[in-house]
Parts: sequence; structure tokens; C-alpha cells
Amino acid sequence: MPANYVALAYLGAAILFILALKGLSSPVSARRGNMLGMAGMAIAVLTTLTVTHNIAAILLAILVGGNIGWFIARRIQMTAMPELVAAMHSLVGLAAVLIAMSAFNNPVAYGIARAGEALHASNRIELFIGTFIGAITFTGSIIAFGKLSGKLGSKPLSFKGQHWLNLALGVVMIGFGVAFCLVPSWTPFLIMTAIALALGILLIMPIGGADMPVVVSMLNSYSGWAAAGIGFTLNNNMLIIAGSLVGSSGAILSYIMCKAMNRAFFNVILGGFGGEAAAADLGDGVQKTYRSGSAEDAAFLMGNADSVIIVPGYGLAVARAQHAINEMSKLLTEKGVKVRYAIHPVAGRMPGHMNVLLAEAEVPYEQVVEMDEINNEFADTDVVLVIGANDVVNPAAKNDKSSPIYGMPILEAHKARTVLVVKRSMATGYAGLDNELFYMDKTMMVFGDAKKVVEDIIKSIA
Ligand code: NDP
Repeated sequence: MPANYVALAYLGAAILFILALKGLSSPVSARRGNMLGMAGMAIAVLTTLTVTHNIAAILLAILVGGNIGWFIARRIQMTAMPELVAAMHSLVGLAAVLIAMSAFNNPVAYGIARAGEALHASNRIELFIGTFIGAITFTGSIIAFGKLSGKLGSKPLSFKGQHWLNLALGVVMIGFGVAFCLVPSWTPFLIMTAIALALGILLIMPIGGADMPVVVSMLNSYSGWAAAGIGFTLNNNMLIIAGSLVGSSGAILSYIMCKAMNRAFFNVILGGFGGEAAAADLGDGVQKTYRSGSAEDAAFLMGNADSVIIVPGYGLAVARAQHAINEMSKLLTEKGVKVRYAIHPVAGRMPGHMNVLLAEAEVPYEQVVEMDEINNEFADTDVVLVIGANDVVNPAAKNDKSSPIYGMPILEAHKARTVLVVKRSMATGYAGLDNELFYMDKTMMVFGDAKKVVEDIIKSIA
């Protein structure tokens, strides 16, 4: 395809990507946004195929990679999505490193140097930046995958002098990078890459489970920048644009999530939050009492209420109770109860997790209300049904200065007249903290699997 047509096709794809991001900003337009993104990607891939030489090898790679992706995506549980995303980011990081190595090994084949000529300094800088971001993304994402999938344990792993070690390694890495930019040789390049790989591990290891949402979106951002880096190496504008869009939207998402958790970004990145306090909190030895009831009790309370707010959390996703909860809400609405869902930005295990689940169950969008909008309404609400959620309704975030989640905005379920909590036991949530809400006089625990409990509630209401 002639170069100007290629540029035009890439421009079209870039516009579709931007419209896709715009669409994804609201659940109502998210499906359309996804479609536009897919169309943009199809145009980008097809156009790239027309300008590549080794089409057979690329088609083979697409066939193998596409089939693996298809197989994994079909089998993956919604709750395991964040770790899948982390694993995918690691591949983007690895690709950036391998392409940089290959380009440095044979710059003529990549069209970034003429035969017999040395690699231009600007190309070396691109290779250096792309490689170190890619290497940090690669190992950092593997650690995030390990933590999110429970293979590594979510507690922060920190040691004395860690930040100084990271800083020193960062400086040495940049030193070798600069050396590579001055004199193109494998030794500084490989040392720089090895240090970046180690930094990826050291940077993510100390970050506790409660901060993982930010880490996932931060790595998302890194993988975008790594892809943009590859774009410079390959002289491919499409990759530069797509990578920058991913990089900047991931960075904005990280910022929004930090705000949602009331955490300073650097504080998160420097790690060490969310582990030790768990043991302290659980080990206070005080026997606290709580009240528990049955699904029939819950059905009675909600059926006689004027207003009910449902607070979904990770447990709803695990139990796949979203369809049942929608059915329950319909029954309550038919009885004249005003039903709404309160969404915390980090409920579940990935940004937007609850919105996706509720949309899948076709819960009407107007019933789904974000935290900032609904928090004022809890005090005027008869019944709050907290289902499979824990940290996002923990009042310690508001009134216990010693709690590690102090300052994190929460859904103020404790202000409602009656609180029903559906979960299987008195176990802690992801941040490993006990929750005062469960011991309040107005709270009734309903123990059991979320789906089973909701099905029983439905039987009692109907
Ligand atoms: P939590 O992890 O705090 O609590 C979930 C609760 O669900 C648990 O206490 C568990 O209790 C219960 N549960 C588990 N399985 C079931 C089941 N089958 N039926 C009924 N209940 C069940 O979840 P939240 O959504 O409240 O908070 C999210 C947490 O995850 C936050 O700490 C957040 O920082 C973190 N996180 C969020 C990410 C995001 O992007 N949204 C990403 C990574 C982490 P029990 O075992 O007793 O049933």
C-alpha cells in the first residue's frame, strides 16, 4: 500500500481508538466504545500487514497467539481478569525488550541504520528508554500476576534500606543506559536491561494487596509507554499513537484510583501498605459479638422497606450472583421498593469490576450510582444490603486514624437504618482488616454463598 494511504488508514484507526476511549468512559456507551476500538485495531493490523515483508511468519504468529488468547479468554473467570491483565502486560514488556534487542542486533533490517553505519544516537536513546520501561513492566507484571492470583501472597514484602537500594539501582541503570547511548555496545545494554528486570521485581514486591488496583493500572500505563517505545524503534506511527493512548489513559486511571483510595501516588509506588496492620487488628484478642439472621429475615426486612441500597463487592463476583441479585431487585421494585446499587471505584478486583458484572446481568444503568453521588443518601435509606463486600464499607477508613486504610473514601453503609451483610464467614477482606460494621447493633449478618443467599431471598419475597 502506498505510504500516504497507510498514513491515512493509521489516522483513521487512531481516531477510532480515541472514540473508543471516549465510549468507555460511561457504561451506557462502553459497548459502542469497544466496537470502535475493535474496528480501529482491525484497520491497524490489516494496514500493517500490507506493509510487512514476512507475511507468512506474521500470520502464523497471529494464528498461534490468537488461538492461545481465544482459549484463555474463554476459560478465564471474571474474578481472575486482573491477573490475566497483569500477565498480558508482562508480554507487552517482554516484546518491547526482545524487539529492542533484535533491532540493536540488526538495525539495517529495521531500517534504522544503513549497512556499515553505526546506529544514530537518537535511535540508541529510543532503544534504551523502550528497553528499560519494557523490562520493568515485564518483571513487575509477573510479580503483580503472582500477587493477584494468590501465588505469591498479597502482603507487602519490604526490608530496611529498600528505597535507597532501588534509588541506587535506578541511578546505576541510567548510568549504563547513558553509556550505551554514547557507545553502542552489548555490555552496557545487557547490564542496563538486567538491572531494569531486577527493579521491576523490587518495585512491585513491597506493594501490598490493598494497593494492587493502582499497580495494575500503573503497569497498564507502563506497557503503553513500552509499546510506544517499540513504535519509535520500528518507525511505526500507529504503535506510537496506540501506545501513548494506553500509556496516558493508564496514568490517568492510576491517578483517579489513588484519589478514590485517598493515597498519594508516590506513597503507593514506594509500597509497604496493607499487610502488617492486618495481624495487629485481628490479634487484639477482644471477643466481639455480632447478630446473624436468615435469608427469610433479610427478605422480610427488604420487602417492607421503602428504599434499599445494594453494595456489591468481590464476593458477588466470586459467587456469580449478579443475575440473581438483578432478579431480586426486580421483585423488590415490583413491590414498590426503591432499589439502587452503590458502586465503589475499587470494589472487586479491578477497576470497573462491579459495573461490568451488573451490566452483564442487565441491571438498569439508572439504578447504578457511583460513590460520590450516593453517599449522602445512606442516612435516609431503610436497608443496605452489603453483598460480598468488605473493605469498601469499612468505617475504620473514616474514624480509626491507626487503620492503614484511614482516609480511603468508603461507601457509608453504616449510616443506613438497617445493614444486612451477606458473606460466608467473619473473615477479613482483601486488605486483611476486621470490619466494625459487622458488629454494629443495626447490622445483621446473613452467612452463606452470595448466590445461594440471594436465591433464598427471592424464594421468600416471591
Ligand atoms: P473485599 O475483598 O474487601 O471483601 C470481599 C468479601 O467477600 C470477603 O470478606 C469475603 O468474605 C466475601 N466473599 C468471598 N466469596 C464470597 C462468596 N462466594 N459469597 C459471599 N461472600 C463472599 O472486597 P471489596 O469489593 O469490598 O473490596 C475490594 C478490595 O480489593 C479492596 O481492598 C481493594 O483495594 C482490593 N482490590 C481492588 C481492585 C480493583 O481494582 N477493584 C484490584 C485489587 C484489589 P467471606 O470469606 O467471609 O465470604
